Amino acid sequence: MIDLHTHTNFSDGTDSPTQLINKALAAGISVLGLTDHDSISGWQEAITALRPGISLVPGAEISCQTPDGISVHILGLLFDSENLELMSTMQATRENRHGRMAKIITRLNEAGIEISMQDVLDQLADGATLGRPHLADALVKKGVVASRDEAFTQMLHNKSKYYVSHYSPLPEAAIKMIKAAGGVSVIAHPMASHRGRTISLETFGSLIDAGLDGVEVDHRDHSPDEKTQLIELAKQNNLVMTGASDYHGNGKLNQLGEYVTMPEQWERLEARANKRRVIKL
Ligand code: AMP
Ligand code: ZN
Ligand code: FE
Ligand code: FE
Repeated sequence: MIDLHTHTNFSDGTDSPTQLINKALAAGISVLGLTDHDSISGWQEAITALRPGISLVPGAEISCQTPDGISVHILGLLFDSENLELMSTMQATRENRHGRMAKIITRLNEAGIEISMQDVLDQLADGATLGRPHLADALVKKGVVASRDEAFTQMLHNKSKYYVSHYSPLPEAAIKMIKAAGGVSVIAHPMASHRGRTISLETFGSLIDAGLDGVEVDHRDHSPDEKTQLIELAKQNNLVMTGASDYHGNGKLNQLGEYVTMPEQWERLEARANKRRVIKL
């Protein structure tokens, strides 16, 4: 099985890269994409933990935003980790996430919810990308909510009055940077409408013009209707179609391999990178 979109505790997943590799092997996954938010810090441990039977597709999920404020996640896979532009863009996003978290905390405090930056940082592994799930974990620890999911449903979702966005590149810019770094780009969960506003067909066209390689069709957050629309769009524009779990360990219900990419689609995608960068023993 091929699962191209997963997270570890180097962002907001709960498993270490070693645990992820072990669980992926046990789940029957032979090709695993490691795509922490705005970071490649987990690659090294994942490479060390590799075992026969599983190949690693190094990647990252790049947080992007359109000019009208719609959040877009672009999966970058198989890019050169020495590309300075891409690395510094991710670094800028990671750093900005701290100021953004402080603003969300201020809004919560003003509403009488007691939580501090330190409470949130206590939930974060060393060197990890800070995100709302860590705030959710801190709220669970304080007894304000029962679970990450409840935290998002009640107060941390994108339409909440506490929501603050962070610096993110334009999706077109991220796609171009990934391509310049020799990698391939796939738009993650493009129609997951319950997460917030999603991009228009027009924006989709502009991402394709920027060099988008693929679209994540099979994902837990897509309805059957949304999948049908995405398949149509992918066929019309010669885009690779992927499926993936977006696994976050215990942080979400998503299970490894619950959605997968077909081998012929994966072959097409991998062939679009400028170099063979899949890592295996
Ligand atoms: P952020 O990157 O700080 O904007 O937070 C977004 C992250 O929160 C995404 O990676 C999602 O995986 C995660 N997330 C969104 N909704 C939920 C939920 N209901 N339960 C757990 N995690 C969620
Ligand atoms: Zn996440
Ligand atoms: Fe995402
Ligand atoms: Fe993700």
